[in-house]
Amino acid sequence: MIRENLRHVESEIQAACERAGRDVSEVTLIAVSKTKPVEMLREAYEAGARDFGENKVQELMDKIPQMPEDVRWHMIGHLQRNKVKYIVGKVCLIHSVDSYRLAEEISREAVKQDVSVDILIEVNVAGEESKFGVAPGDVIPLVKEISGLPGIRIRGLMTIAPFVEKPEENREIFEKLRHLSVDIMRENVDNVTMNVLSMGMTGDYVAAVEEGATCVRVGTGIFGERDYSREQPS
Ligand SMILES: *Cc1c(COP(=O)(O)O)cnc(C)c1O
Repeated sequence: MIRENLRHVESEIQAACERAGRDVSEVTLIAVSKTKPVEMLREAYEAGARDFGENKVQELMDKIPQMPEDVRWHMIGHLQRNKVKYIVGKVCLIHSVDSYRLAEEISREAVKQDVSVDILIEVNVAGEESKFGVAPGDVIPLVKEISGLPGIRIRGLMTIAPFVEKPEENREIFEKLRHLSVDIMRENVDNVTMNVLSMGMTGDYVAAVEEGATCVRVGTGIFGERDYSREQPS
């Protein structure tokens, strides 16, 4: 089933790219495997998935050694400063940086390990109170502030759009994130590129690709519904 789901999502991305006049190679599909057992991740890997997204540090740490080394791990969840040291050097991209203090901690750890860490700034485009992320108006000053830190490279922006019945309702959110990234690009800040737009989930990734997403994060659409009933508090 995972293989079929993956093929389906890939063909939807392909079709969305064709409609938008984009090359499908511009879009990375991240298989969001949070809460799912490693057997299911292996099945996705066998079917060709190489980019996996997780939202908890402990779960990442458990899964990384159990999967092949060529997996690219993406940290997509809220990150606490005291856990930064566990993931620096292990994940290819941290999607969820939303404060200078968090960036500073990542920078400190990167310098210590002598690595360079790619990050995205998480933007709360819709201004939802329940969500993490920086308000759109605060993004440019934050990018400038972070750009001065060693060992860290801002590669683009990420957003989690609201949960909606119709994906069309989120098109405007995706468009706003893209416009914001263009505005930042125009600022020409040293050490900052805006090549990555991480937006779109199972319910709305097609609209996101049409609006310029370069990373879509799809969980349910690949692995099925998540069961949180046995979840341990973190
Ligand atoms: C869980 C999660 C996803 C995937 O959500 P689905 O609706 O299952 O595709 C994407 N992005 C983030 C940040 C998530 O936490």
